[in-house]
Amino acid sequence: MTTRIDRFSPEGGEVSTWIVGDDEEVIVIDPGSDAAGLLEALGDREVLAVICTHGHAAHVAAAMELAERDDAPVALHPKDRGLWRETHPDDADIEMEDGGIFEVADVRLEVLHAPGHTEGSVCLYCEDLGVVFTGHVMAPEGPVPDDGEFPDFAGQLTAIGEQLLTLPASTRVLPGHGPETTIGAAEKKFTPGWQPAPSRPRWSSSASKGCRVGCTRARRPGSPPGWIARAGTG
Ligand SMILES: [Zn+2]
Ligand SMILES: [Zn+2]
Repeated sequence: MTTRIDRFSPEGGEVSTWIVGDDEEVIVIDPGSDAAGLLEALGDREVLAVICTHGHAAHVAAAMELAERDDAPVALHPKDRGLWRETHPDDADIEMEDGGIFEVADVRLEVLHAPGHTEGSVCLYCEDLGVVFTGHVMAPEGPVPDDGEFPDFAGQLTAIGEQLLTLPASTRVLPGHGPETTIGAAEKKFTPGWQPAPSRPRWSSSASKGCRVGCTRARRPGSPPGWIARAGTG
């Protein structure tokens, strides 16, 4: 196994960008806002695709500029297209769907649609490497709010329960901000039947801060290589 995971988190940057690949080719997850710094860090490794876990500006700002060098496709779930357009005039190239697969080096990344933080939030599960990239669906503190609020808390919890907590307990959770955790550790935090209480969040206050910092909204307005859409629809 030559495939590795690198984390790019520029000084002062808010977003953890995850780079999956080998010495030849990579897939970039959540490009953040520093395209030049990211390209420098990548060197001559070819960018096969740029995947956005969701459409919030802090995560997608550098997507098009980063993708341009190697003519790589940018992938987004279509339900976040509205958010995306707050930052980018042109649409993303790949409309991700649940079950879709990306291939890079000798591993596969599976798209897990996990709405709640945004309608088009996705996680990327790599069974080969035993990791799941969770964007803002789930961090060590729990479900990640958007600017201090949960747009669809029940939906987010359901997505976490169905898409993430069903993964092997040893799976590393690599979120869009901050430290990593594991599925096993996250599972212990969940209380069955817990109801959201916006005024008294059960998840620690650092979760709320996390989103205020990381997920402010934008203030301005085929089958590409590596991508295998799920067979069939529905
Ligand atoms: Zn964020
Ligand atoms: Zn977000």
